[in-house]
Amino acid sequence: MPGRGQIVFRGTKNSRSLLPPGPLSEVAGMTSPEHEVQIWDELAQGQIDVKTLSWPDIVGISGLSTSHFGAFRVAKLARELGKPVVAGGMHVTGLYFEGNGEELLAHYDAIVVGRLTRRLWAEVIEDLSRGNSQRVYQADDDDPWEFVVPPHNLIDPKHYYFPALRSSAGCPYGCDFCTVNLVCSKLQVKPYDILKRELELLPELEILRGVRMPFVDCADSFGVDYRHTLEVVLPLYSASGRRWFTEITIRNLMGIGNNRKSLVGPMADAGCRYVYIGIESIHQRVGAKSPERKIVEQAIKDTHKAGLIVMGSLILDITGDETKESIKETVKWVIDQGLDLVQYSLVAALPGSALRRRMLKEGRIIISNCELLCGAWPTVEHPILSPEQRIELLRYAYYRTYSVSGIAKRILGHTNRPLNLFANNVIRGMAHRWWGKVGYEHWLATRNLDG
Ligand code: SF4
Repeated sequence: MPGRGQIVFRGTKNSRSLLPPGPLSEVAGMTSPEHEVQIWDELAQGQIDVKTLSWPDIVGISGLSTSHFGAFRVAKLARELGKPVVAGGMHVTGLYFEGNGEELLAHYDAIVVGRLTRRLWAEVIEDLSRGNSQRVYQADDDDPWEFVVPPHNLIDPKHYYFPALRSSAGCPYGCDFCTVNLVCSKLQVKPYDILKRELELLPELEILRGVRMPFVDCADSFGVDYRHTLEVVLPLYSASGRRWFTEITIRNLMGIGNNRKSLVGPMADAGCRYVYIGIESIHQRVGAKSPERKIVEQAIKDTHKAGLIVMGSLILDITGDETKESIKETVKWVIDQGLDLVQYSLVAALPGSALRRRMLKEGRIIISNCELLCGAWPTVEHPILSPEQRIELLRYAYYRTYSVSGIAKRILGHTNRPLNLFANNVIRGMAHRWWGKVGYEHWLATRNLDG
């Protein structure tokens, strides 16, 4: 997995990434046992060196949009060593569907578009080994979706804070800024036996002596299949005796629709200690996943009552109707509601997303540098706020929410106060480090860089 090609903020020697690269472990799990696999995650382990890259016969790359040029750098290095390179994942798939296949294939020997299957992966490896590959590989529509047990032992836990797995893939809500459906177009739930085996293999991480870190369920839409959640996932998590957390839509959390009930209590009983909820906007509903503001407020109250820590995400320029005043009102609402942790961002028009298609059609994309698609930078024209104003408002949101009084008002009176305080201080430090270094000038200078 490549790191960024352009902006590298070096951590300390002992810095860790939050989560291991789950998709790479799944690819490793799909690889026939006759082949040996090594995973290198530049985001956690630093840039790959020539010695490491000399080991494999084939190099596979999958990364985030923010590593667009980093991926090209790794591919160049590998090809200079005579290694064939294949790339895949959501970013590559999105670019391909937008008509950028030739640009990708100038850097890679082959690309896999959409999801991977064992049959397809065996074919790719076979063809590349023989030096006779197709340029583009794609699973057949009637190939079934496959879950495998990822070999978690290929990942060195010391590089990460949390172990991770996923109990399902895909999401039915279809938010227009999201690209999950490029790889998994329909909800798929992990069978009991695979999830059980995976839980048994999932490493335990200790950051401090005796402090076992919770694991993360990285399902695209945790809880959307109510019965699978109640009958398979929660009993297994409960039986593992481990603490865990997940991202979940408020609809799934509160059990809205389809004769469902709230999952807050059952999740807390099964060891869940933290939920990340996508709120996105308090002024307008954002897509099918998004309920009214009063339901969001009820969800925050219910999760607090069950002893869970709640982190919410808000996209400050998602509707196009935002003003300085409405964004300041959002920040005040966050503090008044006592959201324990908050992630603010600006909307990233990711390749392959419906949002990007619409913005391209309307001529409203304002960057061409994919490495700025991380949520920290304006990527589309906003009818009311300039890029500079949005960058400043994002800075304001973090500084105000993570000010001493902002933290105190949000977390006083909640359970888990020491952990909450610790996490708030980490984000406060990161926000000040990040925004102390970069701002509008950086965006202006890098928005159209091409390598
Ligand atoms: S609910 Fe989440 S995973 Fe589902 S489409 Fe929306 S952003 Fe994507």
